[in-house]
Amino acid sequence: MKYLDGFRNPEAAAAITADIKEFAEKLPKDRIFRLMEVCGSHTMAIARYGIRDLLPENVSLLSGPGCPVCVTAAGYIDAALELARQGKIIASFGDLLNVPGSDGNLAAARSEGISIEVCYSPLAALDIARKNPGREVVFLAIGFETTIPTGTSLVLRAQQENLNNISILTAFKTVPPALEALVSDPELRIDGFLLPPHVSAIIGSDAYRPFTDKHHLPCIIAGFEPLDMLYGLEGLLKQLLENRGELENQYSRVVKPRGNLKAIDLINTYLEPCGPIWRGIGKIPGSGLELREKFAEYDAAKKFGIEISAGNPDSRCRCGEVLKGKILPEGCPLFGKACTPGSPVGPCMVSSEGSCAAYYKYSRSK
Ligand code: SF4
Repeated sequence: MKYLDGFRNPEAAAAITADIKEFAEKLPKDRIFRLMEVCGSHTMAIARYGIRDLLPENVSLLSGPGCPVCVTAAGYIDAALELARQGKIIASFGDLLNVPGSDGNLAAARSEGISIEVCYSPLAALDIARKNPGREVVFLAIGFETTIPTGTSLVLRAQQENLNNISILTAFKTVPPALEALVSDPELRIDGFLLPPHVSAIIGSDAYRPFTDKHHLPCIIAGFEPLDMLYGLEGLLKQLLENRGELENQYSRVVKPRGNLKAIDLINTYLEPCGPIWRGIGKIPGSGLELREKFAEYDAAKKFGIEISAGNPDSRCRCGEVLKGKILPEGCPLFGKACTPGSPVGPCMVSSEGSCAAYYKYSRSK
């Protein structure tokens, strides 16, 4: 009960936890039921509130590939470094700077005097372009559906202002095709998904219907509050007990069936599906978005003839297995030894939403 005291409503948390235990006890005894959260913020909150420790022994909660920084390929960092060394100004979110490429990271390059600017929003990159009319500015446009619209709006604004010295290096990823890749991995055997709230607010709950109709797996969109997540897990176990595999939207106060229509329209106008490389996972068909050909002048890869490969990440790092839920961070021999937040070997230890960073921060202190 140690963790329940930290909940805003410990009585409600205790009641839901009791339901979870009751449902789990009624499930078949011959196996472990494997649920997965696919949102980096869920991962961090689950670790912070000790939610894994509240689950019965026959329920395993895996962390999926929902941290955008973690799934960014080493080859993408290599491409950004190549552009920086060609003299372009690189504009990036801060947490990408420490992500290792094949040979070094952006933070180290920055300390050598290469132009790398930290932005808190994609639109801040426009300011850099305005102030440096004689230089090319490349914004590192990574992220899931939550951040894709603001990354795309950079191109819209650049067009409106006739700003032609800015482009984006895209590594946008989308969640539904990733779910498809996860369930098609026979080693994983996932019994249900806790779906991401912010991504779902953009794409809408209906976006998961083709997936749930095809696989009949319990899938629940849950909020970020610890009670939301517990309630979501309770719902997944209830569905399993009742032999149901349905989509439930428990976060309907924010997530609507058709999502954010304005954001979806912006995405569809500027972007089209592609098959990007996910770090440690490989290519997932249709799991990314890139600029349509008519906006090629804003696509840094096309504008400067850059190829994005998988790169050569440190072969000791097991981020791929962590991101697929095949091992927990503690299963990596480097965890907490050669790899720490102060000296990360892989991106899962870099990002504030990374599984390894979450485990390091919260699990080790118990
Ligand atoms: Fe990679 Fe470090 Fe996590 Fe191991 S502990 S999987 S090296 S990030």
